[in-house]
Amino acid sequence: MSTPLPTVKPSRPRLLSGMRPTGALHLGHYHGALKNWVRLQDSHDAFFFVADWHALTTQRPSGETLARHTYDMVTDWLAAGIDPERCTLFLQSRMPEHAELFMLLSMCTPSSWLARMPSYKDQVAADPELATYGFLGYPLLQAADILLYKPAGVPVGEDQAAHVEVTREVARRFNRLYAPEAPVFAEPQALLTETARVPGLDGQKMSKSLGNAIAMRDEPEVTAAKIRTMPTDPQRVRLGDPGDPARCPVWPLHQIYSDDATRAACETGCRSAGIGCLDCKQPLIEAIQREQAPWRERAAAIDPQQLRWTLELGTERARAVARKTLREVRGAMGLAA
Ligand code: SF4
Repeated sequence: MSTPLPTVKPSRPRLLSGMRPTGALHLGHYHGALKNWVRLQDSHDAFFFVADWHALTTQRPSGETLARHTYDMVTDWLAAGIDPERCTLFLQSRMPEHAELFMLLSMCTPSSWLARMPSYKDQVAADPELATYGFLGYPLLQAADILLYKPAGVPVGEDQAAHVEVTREVARRFNRLYAPEAPVFAEPQALLTETARVPGLDGQKMSKSLGNAIAMRDEPEVTAAKIRTMPTDPQRVRLGDPGDPARCPVWPLHQIYSDDATRAACETGCRSAGIGCLDCKQPLIEAIQREQAPWRERAAAIDPQQLRWTLELGTERARAVARKTLREVRGAMGLAA
């Protein structure tokens, strides 16, 4: 069975966003990006891609890890409600067009623009192994990823806004140098959206590498065990000690998952030592389990072969758009047709 190609709806503004394949996603990915993608797929002509080349700029995954992570991640996209009939899903590494535009843009992008990126300087200082040509160039690869599709907007968190700004500078410079009369690229806007920062089980940012994550598809008992063992207000040593939610890593999860009444009851119970921490955690456990249940159900119904087809078809649809832009770029640069 094949999935029909999504219909192009030019009346909707185009947007593009990607994620590095990190394997099964966690609640931080869902609330930080994916939930927003699900919403945007109805209002926009949305292109979502697996940024697997980007993963190689900072990691050397072994064997089939990257491929497995790719399919696990896209499974979570679909489980969360991303619908390949309403948007275009594709795989960066199946698109040599991204590499070609990256190379062509490198002819007119000053290397100083890349070397000054805070993400480059900080990470290379922490890990000199990262001082590769690929890692230096990754904001330019990101610019190529974006500009190929001429999106009106790129949904990003604040930490990625600088990268969209570089993309805009690259587009401006290309247009000025090669296409002053008829600009090839439009400058995309960063779509800064309010997203919830989900704390991990230790109160730090939720991250798979820190081992503090609740996966989107964790089984109910796994979720319950993880939350029950979360640390709480360190000054609430005994049941009779009053606590302060502001000191407790569990509390930010209540702010995402609990309604006003539950939060009020937990806060009062905490401050008066009227409830224990396990009582406080129980409504949270149930709310997260309720959120996870449909994700697990949808993921279980996904046929792996169908998933590959979905990505294959989306990649072909993306390629048609990318090739059109590349023809314009090659023409503007004077390359033979
Ligand atoms: Fe944290 Fe709730 Fe325990 Fe207070 S009662 S310390 S908010 S888990």
